[in-house]
Parts: sequence; C-alpha cells; structure tokens
Amino acid sequence: MVRTIELTKRQEQILEIVKGNGPITGEQIAEHLNLTRATLRPDLAILTMAGFLDARPRVGYFYTGKSGTQLLTENLQKIYVKEYQSIPVVVNENVSVYDAICTMFLEDVGTLFVVDPTTHLVGVLSRKDLLRASIGKQDLTAIPVHIIMTRMPNITMCERDDLLIDVAKKLIEKQIDALPVVKKSDEGYEVIGRITKTNITRAFVALGEE
Ligand code: ADP
Repeated sequence: MVRTIELTKRQEQILEIVKGNGPITGEQIAEHLNLTRATLRPDLAILTMAGFLDARPRVGYFYTGKSGTQLLTENLQKIYVKEYQSIPVVVNENVSVYDAICTMFLEDVGTLFVVDPTTHLVGVLSRKDLLRASIGKQDLTAIPVHIIMTRMPNITMCERDDLLIDVAKKLIEKQIDALPVVKKSDEGYEVIGRITKTNITRAFVALGEE
C-alpha cells in the first residue's frame, strides 16, 4: 500500500491488529502487543488523528480503510486561501513605473496589485511587466503604471473561502505567479490579500509534515 505518512513499525502493527480484529479496545490492542495501554496511547492518538483509525466510545477502534493517499487528498480539500494568504502590496494606478520598481524592491514582492483612487482593483504588475517597460530610453518617472499593467477584466482573482488547490490550478493554467485575494462590493473588488507560489509551497510543506 502506498503511504504518504511515514508510520512506525509499531503503528503498522496496530493497524494490522485493528484491521483483523476491529472494533477492538485499546486494552485489547495492548494485549496483542504485550504492551501497556499507556505505552500505546500516543500511537493510537496519531493513527486516529491521521484518519487511519476511528475511535467510538464504548466500542473501540476500527480501521477506516483509507489509504495515505486518500487521506492526503481529503486534507488537501480542506485547505483554504484564508489560512495561507499574505498581505497584499498595492500601488495607485497613477504612480510611475519607476516608483513601482522601488516599491517592488522595498516590499520584497514579485507582484504588485494596482488600485484606483477608491482603492478598487484595476490591474496587476509583474516583474517582467516592469522590466519590459524599462527597455529603451523612456523616462520611467513619467510613465504611469496603468499604461503597462495587465488590466481588469483580465485579472485572475480568488476569495478567502476558495480552496487553495483551486488557486494552485489557476496559477498553473494562467502561467502567473500570484493572485489577489479580493472581496467583492458594489463598487468593485477590494484587495484583501495575496496568494503566491510561495504560499502554495508553504501549504505543501505543512501538509507533508502533518
Ligand atoms: P513575470 O511576468 O514576472 O514572470 P507572472 O508570470 O506573474 O510574472 O506574470 C505574467 C503576466 O501575467 C504579466 O504580464 C502579468 O501582468 C500578468 N499577471 C500576473 N498575475 C496576474 C493575475 N492574477 N491576473 C491576470 N494577469 C496576471
């Protein structure tokens, strides 16, 4: 069986015992292994939390029949944007390309979100957008970012309650590095967060360590 969660030898033994004898009490599992109930407690807690076993009061432990891969998939479907989003960095649509480049360095981000004077989302600026605008001899302090940005309605966005896996799919499909997390209002979209490839990587690592 493919397991994505590394189990100890004893945890594997417990699984086999429960598979063959469940429902079975902690006491009975301990007897099978010639160990005390107290010794087994941490292992039973791990196996239950990870979803391999289910525990019913006054009945005992039974095997859920779920593989590590199935459990991983289930856990992936429970991660939401709001748990991993970062603080967005926004610039006004009238700031210059020069100032946007400075902001990108100062804030240490790869994508800037552009807002209008009412702070609603109007565009996105990536590193390459700014690099492209810097080729040539134009005066970067004289070009406003709204000239070069990717603009609404072509912005790919997400909301706090979206699944992170769906956002990851959008990043790949659209070949972009970041999405604004937005809140819709009558006047437009307010930028309340940002999801980047780094956030997705962080979630991936957390999932592997769970
Ligand atoms: P880079 O261009 O630095 O490699 P991206 O891959 O994120 O960075 O951006 C590629 C293009 O897609 C850029 O022109 C950028 O303006 C645009 N873009 C980036 N993010 C979004 C988004 N969320 N929605 C729509 N367009 C985007």
